[in-house]
Amino acid sequence: MAREPVVTGGNGGEDERDLKGLRPQRMQDMVGQRDVYARLQVAVEAARMRGDALGHILFDGPPGLGKTTFALCIPREIGSSIQLTSGAILKAPKDLLPYLSNAPEKSVLFIDEIHRLPKAVEEYLYTAMEDFRIDIVLGEGVSARTINLHLKPFTLIGATTRAGLLSGPLRDRFQIRETLGFYNEQELTEILHRSAGNLEIPIREDAARELARRSRGTPRIANNQLLWVRDFATSRADGEITLEVARAALTMAGIDELGLNRTDRQYLDTLIRVFQGGPAGIEAIGHTMNGSIDTLEDEVEPFLLRMEMLVRTPRGRIVTQRAYHHLGMKPAGGGTQRGLF
Ligand code: ADP
Repeated sequence: MAREPVVTGGNGGEDERDLKGLRPQRMQDMVGQRDVYARLQVAVEAARMRGDALGHILFDGPPGLGKTTFALCIPREIGSSIQLTSGAILKAPKDLLPYLSNAPEKSVLFIDEIHRLPKAVEEYLYTAMEDFRIDIVLGEGVSARTINLHLKPFTLIGATTRAGLLSGPLRDRFQIRETLGFYNEQELTEILHRSAGNLEIPIREDAARELARRSRGTPRIANNQLLWVRDFATSRADGEITLEVARAALTMAGIDELGLNRTDRQYLDTLIRVFQGGPAGIEAIGHTMNGSIDTLEDEVEPFLLRMEMLVRTPRGRIVTQRAYHHLGMKPAGGGTQRGLF
């Protein structure tokens, strides 16, 4: 039986109220991503049988799909510990040093947002990952000398929403690379039922399906919406989440029938009204909306692309007929456009 992992550093990327208890503790308890699970299971078992550290793993995919959850489950499978950090806070090689030198044998070092590592830190990782060794330069100029520090074999798990921003040499040092995809309605319904069960929230089957349908294929959004609908059910109804309660709560939160939120609609509206439907570059759209380009690229666009409301071309982003139709607007030249905001 695997030991509970010792978690040090960071907060596991969990900042939503109540959601901590909803994270599956073992890979087998995770819903969906069966092919990813099966491949990881093989790698974990083989490493365990050989007595080796598990190979380095890179998880890639939009936010909220389970990258951190997988990373937290893995040390439980191998009976080891985990240290958590983020590419955003590792500003210089010296920031990485305590994590590497403290890493026990076969332990996991999880670096979230690994695409944000500065180049100098990234280069430092190369020998750490490949030879379990780091070279520290002491002094400067002619008196400078290099000390080789030997590390215990460990497993680096990186998570990124932008695998494309990782340099080739870093990407190539991960033996296992997994891209997490969006979840289907049935999987999200199962996640919602489990979460509602854990939090003792009464929810009807049709209400769970409605929430799943409007959760953008993302477990984190499904769980967040469940908490909001629970509040709504408590304050405006008798506490039970019925279909009617779920619909009213989501409408109040600005989530439409297809799961688009206000930012999604504002993005499409800007592209249609200001840029005549495109093509337009992400920077121009972001500046016009006065929003974060990272959020648009990580969260808004993957969903709109998947909903076939947006296409990305070398010349820029273009809205599709489906988007016009969904917003009740007509393509330019085909009638009067109506703003949404
Ligand atoms: P990421 O690291 O990709 O941003 P997380 O691993 O933090 O996403 O997942 C967000 C939340 O969604 C978690 O708190 C967890 O409760 C839930 N979740 C993610 N993946 C699954 C899954 N496969 N099964 C059940 N719940 C999941």
